[in-house]
Amino acid sequence: MDDNFRGNVSFPVKVGLVGCGKWGSVLKKKLSNLGVLIAWCGGRDLLPLQSRLRNSSIPAVDWIIIATPATTHFSLALEALEAGKNVFIEKPATISLADTERLFSKAKQKDLKIFVDTIFVRRAEYLAVKQHLGGCVPKLIRFCWSKPDLNSEAVMDRLVYHDLYMLVDLIGTGLATHSVRVLARHSGYWNFTCVYGDTTVCFEYTLSKSTVTRKTLEVIPTSNEINSKTVEFKSLQPSEQDPLQEVLSEVLQHRANYERNHEIILAAESIREVLQPLVEPRINVIGGGIFGSTCAWMLAQAGAAVRLYEAKADLMQCASEVNQRRLHRGYHYPRSDETGVMSRDGQRRFLDAYKVALLDHPTAHYYAIAKEGSLTSREEMISFCERLNLSFKEVAHPLIYDEMVSLVIEVEEELWDHDKLRAECWRLLNLHGVSINLNSKVGLKPDETSLPPANHTIVACYASNNVVLKGVLGVEFTSQDLQFELCEKPVFRLPQQFWGKSCVIMDGPFMCIDPISDADPSLFVMGNVEHAIHTSNIGEKPETLSDLKLLLNQGIIPASHIPRGLSRADTMLKSASQFFKNLKHAEHVGSMFTHRTVLPKHEHDDARPSLIEYHSHNVTSIFSGKVVSCVDIGHRLCEELLCPLNP
Ligand SMILES: Cc1cc2nc3c(=O)[nH]c(=O)nc-3n(C[C@H](O)[C@H](O)[C@H](O)COP(=O)(O)OP(=O)(O)OC[C@H]3O[C@@H](n4cnc5c(N)ncnc54)[C@H](O)[C@@H]3O)c2cc1C
Repeated sequence: MDDNFRGNVSFPVKVGLVGCGKWGSVLKKKLSNLGVLIAWCGGRDLLPLQSRLRNSSIPAVDWIIIATPATTHFSLALEALEAGKNVFIEKPATISLADTERLFSKAKQKDLKIFVDTIFVRRAEYLAVKQHLGGCVPKLIRFCWSKPDLNSEAVMDRLVYHDLYMLVDLIGTGLATHSVRVLARHSGYWNFTCVYGDTTVCFEYTLSKSTVTRKTLEVIPTSNEINSKTVEFKSLQPSEQDPLQEVLSEVLQHRANYERNHEIILAAESIREVLQPLVEPRINVIGGGIFGSTCAWMLAQAGAAVRLYEAKADLMQCASEVNQRRLHRGYHYPRSDETGVMSRDGQRRFLDAYKVALLDHPTAHYYAIAKEGSLTSREEMISFCERLNLSFKEVAHPLIYDEMVSLVIEVEEELWDHDKLRAECWRLLNLHGVSINLNSKVGLKPDETSLPPANHTIVACYASNNVVLKGVLGVEFTSQDLQFELCEKPVFRLPQQFWGKSCVIMDGPFMCIDPISDADPSLFVMGNVEHAIHTSNIGEKPETLSDLKLLLNQGIIPASHIPRGLSRADTMLKSASQFFKNLKHAEHVGSMFTHRTVLPKHEHDDARPSLIEYHSHNVTSIFSGKVVSCVDIGHRLCEELLCPLNP
């Protein structure tokens, strides 16, 4: 806190300002004009402020003014009141009516003042409307607000809040809200109506780069004797009266009507309680893999205020990075029609969202059935493809030993590029205003992140799902244990004959090789159903051998950095050489390690469904099977968690 800030005190009040963002800076200017500001702080200083309030080492201020993010208002204001300071809070008072009520009663109990900024009821445009109505209740009020603003998060607390306190100031505080109709809700645009008392209130907010700032208020009176009236709130000119400075001056000198302020705020917040879950539901998503990230931007696109929490320093660093990168169409799962259909149908919608993430390098895709030991026969594979309408062409493969396979088909499938997919996730998350919190492991330990209140929490932590659900969210868990497999994905440099070819040998303890990089077509990632799995367990969480723990989820670890004896790349190469010619020149470049998580006891069908599980009215988890289904899962969550729009 900068204690050296002293203006010319024009009345005997000393003020400490907390928060030096955009609005904090506006307040700072007004307070210096009034000559009352003696200290201010923000950003990282907030924590010291809290302890200094507690031990009274803060300068002897009479008022604390809070202009920090809304989620911090309650705790800061409570501490200030406990320390015997009066409090002025920038809107919203807090993020819940119950917290605001607690603050008001604490102030009363301590005989202190608390005031919430309701600046628009002091604006000349608003006062003109109020005067025009002359106490008549309008039959319709329309609030419209557009802003060239990319951050569409928290429209309820940033914009709607102003309109709610104007509404109750205009027509009364003791009325009930009913019949809320959400007409449109997607990122950057909200259109809804509610009936408050006998008045229909229309709200419309547009936040988009291509719009201009415009705020209007229209009233249509009940009586035919009064005309309707529309006002537009203009930017204040320097020569005009400054309502904010006036309010501050009155509030700080104990000349404001605090009771009326509380009455308006409580009434506005009780409307907010009804509207908020319908208009802008708050959703916390834990886990920034492809499933958590996709669901986060899709829910935000559908109008929710979404916060995404990821333990690692970037998105998609665990299973979403360490995998074969095959955008399945179904061919890989001839023993599970469910997984086949989910992949086939999911692929189209995945491409609608993520087409730019595909590997560009032209690639031919082959599936072969091993002659010995395959759980699917040549006939069964053909019949599966025909049943699911998956097109294929029987071919001879120049690199596969003919005598080892009973069928080779060329199919249409794709691979994705991990960096492109992650970049596209970032773009979409930012576009739709998701608040992204990296290095934020959600947990109960002091150094872990606790979640802010929300209407819903979605757990998308894959291998850590059960730990987070049970250990962190306290879900009474009834679901089954999971099967964890610590997998190695070696990357090889292969001879030119392999370039542009993706090959899978099915359907048993076999293998696959796929190009991994547009930049370097000689690089391939190898899978092996048997040898890639270092350890496996069924339970609540993965059990990891300690020497492998350090290698998990680290991207491609160069072969020379992997401790001797830990990699199975050689064994996998040897196994692959039974099927492929010309692998003797393959060079092991490095390996990736992660936990694969699958449903236990599914060896008979190898099913990999993606599932949504509802644990309570406000906690849901996603169990991911194949990446291709992430957009479908996002669609389902939007439909099932967000209230349907009224026709
Ligand atoms: C070896 C292997 C090969 C595969 N091959 C393919 C394939 O070719 N094609 C295909 O479609 N699928 C494949 N899969 C499956 C696919 O990779 C997964 O289904 C998918 O990536 C899982 O995505 P996710 O978002 O659910 O999980 P993840 O990507 O693992 O994301 C979960 C995230 O949650 C975070 N997290 C965990 N706990 C917390 C916490 N407490 N707080 C905050 N964050 C937390 C983690 O850090 C992680 O980033 C493969 C999987 C493996 C392992």
